[in-house]
Amino acid sequence: MSDCLFCKIINGQIPSLKVYEDDHVYAFMDIMPLTKGHTLLIPKTHCKDLFEMPEEVARNLYAAAPKVANAIKAAFNPTGMNTMNNNGESAGQTVFHYHLHLIPRYDEKDGLKVEWNSRQAEFPTEILTEIAGQIRENL
Ligand code: AMP
Ligand code: ZN
Repeated sequence: MSDCLFCKIINGQIPSLKVYEDDHVYAFMDIMPLTKGHTLLIPKTHCKDLFEMPEEVARNLYAAAPKVANAIKAAFNPTGMNTMNNNGESAGQTVFHYHLHLIPRYDEKDGLKVEWNSRQAEFPTEILTEIAGQIRENL
């Protein structure tokens, strides 16, 4: 897409620090890294987010993810890695070309704080059963 920042990165109109490329995907350093080695993996086919991603594009994207993750692991020996993908403004998406964040983790002071506040009490089994059914009905 002509006015898309990440499409411009893929076609070289905007510079980036490339770490990997194949026919289907492009991986490069996040310009505002959360931790050492924070990398973005994107499909070469423009799609806005996960909701709009064709299955084939998803297959090719995730096929490359372990390769890039393992290169980061071999380079910096992190103790873990978060993969994140924000879809939609409410979820924190700021660039509307799908991207998978690969964020290596080192220790609790490494720059990324993910807080999971479980609301398990609001979702007893009967409610969860109903919710699962509603999702299944829409597949
Ligand atoms: P998100 O908030 O999930 O949409 O993430 C967008 C990410 O793109 C942020 O982590 C930015 O730091 C990163 N970013 C934005 N512009 C560039 C750029 N020109 N090169 C590399 N990373 C970028
Ligand atoms: Zn794009």
